[in-house]
Amino acid sequence: MTYGRLRELTEQVAMGLMSHGVAPGDRVAMVFPNGPEAILLFLATSMIGVSCPLNPGYKEDEFRFYLEDTGARFLLVPPGEAATARQALPAGGKVIEVELDATGRLELNNHGGGHVDSIDAADPEATALVLHTSGTTSRPKRVPLRHRNLLTSADNIVRSYELTPDDVSLCIMPLFHVHGLVASTLATFASGGTVVVPRRYGPLGFRPLMEATTPTWFSASPTPHQLILARLQDRRPPGCERLRFVRSCSAALAPAQMELMEDRFGVPVLEAYGMTEASHQMASNPLPPGRRVPGSVGRGTGVEVAILDDGGNELAAGTSGEVAVRGPNVIDGYENNPQANASSFTRGWFRTGDLGVLDADGYLRLLSRIKELINRGGEKIAPREIDEVLEAHPSVKEAVSFGVPHPTWGEEVGVAVVLSAPITEKELLAFCRSRLADFKVPRHLHFVDSIPKTPTGKIQRRFVAEQFIRQ
Ligand code: AMP
Repeated sequence: MTYGRLRELTEQVAMGLMSHGVAPGDRVAMVFPNGPEAILLFLATSMIGVSCPLNPGYKEDEFRFYLEDTGARFLLVPPGEAATARQALPAGGKVIEVELDATGRLELNNHGGGHVDSIDAADPEATALVLHTSGTTSRPKRVPLRHRNLLTSADNIVRSYELTPDDVSLCIMPLFHVHGLVASTLATFASGGTVVVPRRYGPLGFRPLMEATTPTWFSASPTPHQLILARLQDRRPPGCERLRFVRSCSAALAPAQMELMEDRFGVPVLEAYGMTEASHQMASNPLPPGRRVPGSVGRGTGVEVAILDDGGNELAAGTSGEVAVRGPNVIDGYENNPQANASSFTRGWFRTGDLGVLDADGYLRLLSRIKELINRGGEKIAPREIDEVLEAHPSVKEAVSFGVPHPTWGEEVGVAVVLSAPITEKELLAFCRSRLADFKVPRHLHFVDSIPKTPTGKIQRRFVAEQFIRQ
C-alpha cells in the first residue's frame, strides 16, 4: 500500500466514521487482530477523536472495564467477530463493523446515514490515543497520549536508528500497545519506510516471513526474541540480507541472549527502554559506531533521563534511585487520577517506578522496580487485578499475587490464596480463566492458612513472593 493510498483510505474511513456519528474528541474503541485494518483504524479514529485499541484476548469483565473507563461511545470490530467485546459494550454504545475488502477498500458494514466529505487536521495537543497501564495498588491507569507525544516519540525513534524511506520494519508486536504501534509502525511512517504487518504471527512463521519480506529491522520484547532464537540454529538465515539491526524493548534483555542473537543475526542488537506514559521509547543503545552496552538500556533518546531520590532530588552518576524522564513525548498526567498524578510527577519529572543507575556516559542500567507490576513477556499485569478476581470467588478469603521468575516469560503470575471454603486448584483456575485474559491467569497457586507477613506484620507483595519463590 502506498502512502497516497494509505492517506486516501484513512480519510475515507474517517469520514465514514463521522457519518456514523463519531464526532471530534469522541473515544472510539477497537478490537482488531494485527493487520492493516488495525493501523488504518488507529489513524482514522485519532484523526477525528481518540483511538482506544483493546486486546482481543480480553474476557467480558475486562472489556467492560476498559470500555466504561475510556468512555468509548463506539466500538469498531471485524464483521461477525469480537462477540465478547460487543456484549460488554455499555448501553448506548454503537458497534460499527469494518472490513478491508478484496479491492483494498475499507467497508463500514452498516450505514451511518450522515454525509461527511471533508475532515480537518487534528490539533497536535489533542488526545490521539488512550491506553492503560497497570497500577500497583489499583485497577489500570488511563494514559492519554496527545498527537504531539506520539509524533515526538516516533521522531526520537527515527533518529535513534537512522530510519530512512529504505527501511522495512517487521511488526510482530501487538498494535494495541505502544511498542508495536509507535516503534514498529509510527516511527516507520515518520521516516517514509515500509511496515510489514502479518495478520497472524507465531515464532514458527518467523523464517518464512523474513524470507518473504527481508526487513531491515524488527523490534520485540525479549520473550518473542527468545522463541525465535530457539528455532534458529544457523547464522544469518535467509531473509537477513537487508537486516541492519534488531531492537529489544519492554522487558530486560539478558546479555547472554543479546550475544546469541547478535551471533545468529550477524547484526547489532539494540536494547531500548520504553513505557506507555512516554509514548514508548525513553532510551536506547545506539547503532555502531556508538557503543552498545549489554545489560544497559542505553542513553536517553531525545528524552531527558535522571535518577531521583525519594525527595525528588537528582542523584549523581553511579548512585541508584528512581528513574525519571522529561520530554514532549511524556504525558502531562493520567486521566481522572489525581492520586497517581501527585505521586508520579515531581518538579516536571515523570517518575517511572523503575529503579536504575546512570553511568558517567549517561548509559542507564535498570536495577529493579518500585512498582509491583508483573512483567510477563513484556505484557504488564497489575497484581491487584488478579487478587480482586480471586477474591470475588466465594471460596476465597484473601489472595495476594506476585511475579515468579521464568526463563522464557521473564515473569509468570503466582498467587497465595487463603480459602474460606474448600475448592480445588483446577476449579479456581477455571474461574480465573473465565474472567482474565490468558496471559494474566496465575500459573502458580499456593493455598495457605494465612498470607505470610513481614517481621513487622505487614503484607508486602515482594515478601510474599520471596516465601514461595525460595521453595
Ligand atoms: P509498558 O508501559 O507496558 O511499556 O511498560 C513499561 C515498563 O516496562 C517500564 O516501566 C519497565 O518496568 C519495563 N521495561 C521497559 N523496557 C525495559 C527494558 N529494556 N528492561 C527492563 N524493563 C523494561
